[in-house]
Amino acid sequence: MKVLVINAGSSSIKYQLYDMPGGQVVARGVLERIGDKLSRLTHRRGSETSTREEAVVNHEAAMQRILQILVDPRVGAIEELAEIATVGHRVVHGGEEFTGSVVVDDRVLASIEKFVDLAPLHNPHNLVGIRAARNKLPGAVQVACFDTAFHTSLPEVAYRYALPYELYERYHIRRYGFHGTSHRYVARRAASLMGMDKYQLNAITCHLGNGCSMAAIRHGRSVDTSMGFTPLEGLVMGTRTGDFDPAILFYLADKGYDLTSLNSLCNKKSGLLGISGVSNDMRTLEQLAHEGNARARLAVEIFCYRVRKYIGAYMTLLNPLDAIVFTGGIGENSPLVRRQVCQDLDHLGIRLDPQGNEMGRGREGVISAADSDVCLLVIPTNEEEAIATDAYELSVEAGGSAKAKGHWDRT
Ligand code: AMP
Repeated sequence: MKVLVINAGSSSIKYQLYDMPGGQVVARGVLERIGDKLSRLTHRRGSETSTREEAVVNHEAAMQRILQILVDPRVGAIEELAEIATVGHRVVHGGEEFTGSVVVDDRVLASIEKFVDLAPLHNPHNLVGIRAARNKLPGAVQVACFDTAFHTSLPEVAYRYALPYELYERYHIRRYGFHGTSHRYVARRAASLMGMDKYQLNAITCHLGNGCSMAAIRHGRSVDTSMGFTPLEGLVMGTRTGDFDPAILFYLADKGYDLTSLNSLCNKKSGLLGISGVSNDMRTLEQLAHEGNARARLAVEIFCYRVRKYIGAYMTLLNPLDAIVFTGGIGENSPLVRRQVCQDLDHLGIRLDPQGNEMGRGREGVISAADSDVCLLVIPTNEEEAIATDAYELSVEAGGSAKAKGHWDRT
């Protein structure tokens, strides 16, 4: 069965076509700069890459281009669109309603629409992607996979803020958490690598990329996570503040900053970029720090310090702690960050193997010393594969028909 995974952003759509249940990627690509004068479609089939540049006015047209290239006689991967039995869509916000992936029907679409208010930068594009796929592939089962779903298991004590009680009731202000598909994927993979049942594992998962979040996972379920009502809270990120005193905003408002500039300050000008003043990219900062740039060095140090604080906090929730997992562009590829995060934590039973850590660049593996109580792992995340698996399983459950409805807690 062919499963198409769609990740629709504001100006791009990423796609991967899977052959399931084996999980082989038969084609993948990205259509960028949708709505610009010239959009770019980069398509890969096996080791062959082809690029096309042309005007693509909107997401509907983008989906059309993607489907066209998938059946292109020269570079495509299938003969006809009817081969695509299922489409799995990444959806950022599922509110409190979606505790797992679901087959999309009109009710599900209406709910995703409802959550646009909570994720105005993401859910509208995800919706456009689903609607476009529904139009172009009416025979396929459409499945929505939510970034928030894995964290719906958070207990009330972890998801409530110390704000007036009625704000939760009136505006649904609470911690939702994001990157759930990634945290779930690496936690399941860690359990499998350690020979444990997935509902046995206690772990801290660190998704460190341009966006960063951590999760405390008790018996396979998320019990706390660092991102909150929005993806702004928690760790230091490429351009986002993470945790800081909200009174700074009142202070700056008093100095003349308006809402738009405060939003941009917190989401686009802070984090690694804000501290270093030069880059949001960890590779660049590591290089600059190595060359003696003090602010680049400080940015990396603050980044690692914050991860350590969360490890400390989450260790109070997990007894015993079986594993710490590093994933995301930085978590998978930066031995320096992992070293700074794990250094001098012997008293917590965390001991890194320096050689294993150096070897573990972008590859799955154990990086803890033999005498470490906590297993330290690098596990490359694969959100697309997790979405493809959910979509495939739900589709089989639903009888492989677009008319079938189903809601399945994919835990
Ligand atoms: P992601 O958002 O998961 O794609 O991660 C992007 C981040 O990973 C950027 O900050 C990159 O600089 C960082 N990254 C990728 N490769 C490396 C590397 N080899 N060393 C350090 N950071 C890296």
